[in-house]
Amino acid sequence: MQSQERKIQAPVPNLETQAFWDACAQGKLMIGKCNACGAVYYYPRALCPVCFSDKTGLQQASGNGTIYTYSVMRRAPIPYAIAYVTLAEGPSIMTNIVDCDLDKIKIGQAVKLVFKPSDGGPPVPMFTPI
Ligand SMILES: [Zn+2]
Repeated sequence: MQSQERKIQAPVPNLETQAFWDACAQGKLMIGKCNACGAVYYYPRALCPVCFSDKTGLQQASGNGTIYTYSVMRRAPIPYAIAYVTLAEGPSIMTNIVDCDLDKIKIGQAVKLVFKPSDGGPPVPMFTPI
């Protein structure tokens, strides 16, 4: 039921994450890309977590991924699923699995990106089974 939508806390962008959240507002999920060693990673950050280069930028993720692991929070007022999704590009993202029967979520399930509005902030990237 739509009236049972969980309220999502607004993310608070900072200098390092502003471009990421601006992209979310345009419906794009960005991952970090190192121009020195070629690594892609999540979350995006100024220094490459692999080689510590500052020659980093953002790359748009396809939005396709698979569920690596998940947990259903049933004691919340509105139950929800928290998960790690491994993106097609390689990095994993901690997220929520939404718009599905929480009892039917499976590890290894293919998912795709959806954005959910937050409470007064930028939309938040989440995933739904394909
Ligand atoms: Zn690097």
